Amino acid sequence: MAKEDFRCIECNEKATELHRDYSNGILKITICEFCHKPVDKYIEYDPVIILIDALLCKTQAFRHILFNTHLNVQWKLCVLCLLCEAYLRWSRLQGSGRSSDPADFIRYTREWEFYGMFGTAALAELAAFCGGVLGFLWAALGVLRRRRPLELRPLELRLLLRALLLSCYGKVLLIPAVIWEHDFSPLCVALIEVFVLTSNSQAIRVILNSSRRLSLAAVALGLLSESCVARFCRTFS
Ligand SMILES: [Zn+2]
Repeated sequence: MAKEDFRCIECNEKATELHRDYSNGILKITICEFCHKPVDKYIEYDPVIILIDALLCKTQAFRHILFNTHLNVQWKLCVLCLLCEAYLRWSRLQGSGRSSDPADFIRYTREWEFYGMFGTAALAELAAFCGGVLGFLWAALGVLRRRRPLELRPLELRLLLRALLLSCYGKVLLIPAVIWEHDFSPLCVALIEVFVLTSNSQAIRVILNSSRRLSLAAVALGLLSESCVARFCRTFS
């Protein structure tokens, strides 16, 4: 990561360093020259605290993760999320017909073909969601930048895609929601989906330094694109 890539988590201005290492072994956290607050207080925090703040969708926690860390697990997380989605679809198809009979277990192992099919459908839907969001932002920023050239950051596709994939981490919660199945499972799944969309919106807002309205509109368009692809897949499968 180049030095100038750091950002102040409070005011979003660029910073050259997060801390200064003095020769006598003393580390001192850097103070932002624009807002006069620590550039990134999270470098001293426990990862659990950072995760809790990210779960609460705090802008500062998102800036810390997306700009000031080398966290590069988005593709692994993407595969894990797709598996969670595929498992959810598969379990919905099986419905209440499951039993603990070993013969049934053998029957289920033959259904990997279905599992693969659902995984492919989930991949297509994720691609449609990301494509819809990026396409909308590309068009919207083109229009908005002509009116307010200095306020919005340029669209960096690689950074935005990383942010979108990382902010889908909430989908991992689908596993316990499905495994410990109970009457409230559909409600839990709906709440998880709302949480993931909220995280996506916050990630877009942080990356572009845009308004909440623009990020919500981008997520809504991504969702619309995803729904169209899901309907198309169901029609032709
Ligand atoms: Zn600052």
